[in-house]
Amino acid sequence: MTITLEQINKAPDSDATTLLAGLYEHSPWVVQRALAKKPFASLAQLKHALANAVNHADLAEKLALLRAHPELAGKAIVAGDLTAESSHEQSTAGLTHCTPAELARLHTLNADYQAKFGFPFILAVRGPRGNGLSKRQIIAEFERRSRNHAAYELEECLRNVNRIAELRLNDKVGTHPSLGNHVWDGLEQLATYSDPGFAELGQLTVTYLTDAHRACAALIAQTMRDSGFDSVNIDAVGNVVGIYNAAGEQHVASKTLLTGSHFDTVRNGGKHDGRLGIYVPIVCVRELHRARRRLPFNIEVVGFAEEEGQRYKATFLGSGALVGDFKAEWLEQKDVDGITMREAMLHAGLEANNIGAIQRDAASYLGFVEVHIEQGPVLNELDIPLGIVTSINGSVRYLCEITGMASHAGTTPMNRRRDAACAAAELALYIEKRAAEDSDSVGTMGMLQVPGGSINVVPGRCLFSLDMRAPLDAQRDALASDVLTQLQAICERRSVHHTLELTEKAAAALSASDWQQHWENAVTALGVPIHRMPSGAGHDAMKIHKIMPQAMLFVRGQNSGISHNPLESTSSDDIELSIDAFMHLLLNLGQTGPTASPQQ
Ligand SMILES: [Zn+2]
Repeated sequence: MTITLEQINKAPDSDATTLLAGLYEHSPWVVQRALAKKPFASLAQLKHALANAVNHADLAEKLALLRAHPELAGKAIVAGDLTAESSHEQSTAGLTHCTPAELARLHTLNADYQAKFGFPFILAVRGPRGNGLSKRQIIAEFERRSRNHAAYELEECLRNVNRIAELRLNDKVGTHPSLGNHVWDGLEQLATYSDPGFAELGQLTVTYLTDAHRACAALIAQTMRDSGFDSVNIDAVGNVVGIYNAAGEQHVASKTLLTGSHFDTVRNGGKHDGRLGIYVPIVCVRELHRARRRLPFNIEVVGFAEEEGQRYKATFLGSGALVGDFKAEWLEQKDVDGITMREAMLHAGLEANNIGAIQRDAASYLGFVEVHIEQGPVLNELDIPLGIVTSINGSVRYLCEITGMASHAGTTPMNRRRDAACAAAELALYIEKRAAEDSDSVGTMGMLQVPGGSINVVPGRCLFSLDMRAPLDAQRDALASDVLTQLQAICERRSVHHTLELTEKAAAALSASDWQQHWENAVTALGVPIHRMPSGAGHDAMKIHKIMPQAMLFVRGQNSGISHNPLESTSSDDIELSIDAFMHLLLNLGQTGPTASPQQ
């Protein structure tokens, strides 16, 4: 029997606790505390209240909650001692039918894990799609997480406890994220294409204009056609462009909302980076089309062909072309196989000469919005599914060299050294401290080497990189200025020299306040708390920012929000929320403009 949110809201607390019994293993206190936040405007709000009750519990309560869980494929499953919910989940995952080898492996993992952490390993075995992880995936996840640090793993277990409760709650109210699942499955289908050398290893790599890349473009185009877009084409730079016309005969004169993200990937990347921001608006158009509904503006969804800069040195080829940032000299760049970009385009049937013509006229656009996986740990740690992006960080990058004196490691006294690597090391620690003093600044020495170094030689040269980012250009500049001043001071004190090469400087792209507000209204309407945050990573939106207002919505990532990694993932429940938010934004925009009308 399914229950409704209304029943939960109206029932006395004791009855509501009974209605929600079993969400948390042998721990009714979680539900009792969450119910203090009644009434709930949405299921998402109830889920957040439950997660909050867990996250605000004290350590003893958290440990008791974790210890109330059974081991995976443990003794309880054999003795038939599991709760009905656990039994269902473990048997769906196939854990009731393990081979002797799998049982032996799980037994060892369980024992080692308990010994290390003092609580059982907890994994939402139904997974981010809700349809069950395979035994192979479960064992791989178990092995990976066994290597975590204790404090982190405690939190990761609690997040899994909340995920298990989310899935159980979905069952109780008889609701499932069907649109989120639809997008999830579309992303899985897209991920079947991968470049040679990676495909064989089961890794996802799709770089600009390879066969896999063109297969992705064709699939995205077909998905757009199947979803009811009025026109779909692949443009001169390889972007997939779909347009869903505004209502009435005047759609040519109507303004256009631009949205989208990229479908290329880094090497051995994740399935959701970029692609999520293409499939979420596609499914929104599909739903509008199914409802025979048109809005007073055109919706243009672009699958950007290139953002990651993997095959050629140039990046943002797709979104850059839309703002007139495509440089003709890039066509002569060569990939590692010596194939020029021009040749790759010719092979793909693209007309490089026409790239200039795809530059957009901002006057015909309302603005640009982009949905993207967060690619960081913030939303995951806060247990908040969606994030409002306030700004895409401005960045500055340098390549540096410090020159000291290479000398004998045995004979040079400590007070007579001119050690280039120690100077760089001192600067690295300063950057770490200085960036942390700001809110939301980051500074990284990502490359660090002693060319020709030897075990018995004081380093005479040290090469390193600097990458500094902040939500505001002035904040970035202040950070960079302090770091370079410190570099100067360190070099003088240590009697070493340095050279600097500025290799990149990108301005911060602040979200347009009205567009940010559109996202906030949408997220608030879902009953999900607002969390505003800058984007540490660059996105297509920062290119489009050059010609029109933009704002982004982040979707929580799993596994600490890891990205540019095969572990990257969202959940279909979170995807569904981003679809709901996007639809809300569309309909709201439709109402603030001329009234939305049924299809002619
Ligand atoms: Zn991306």
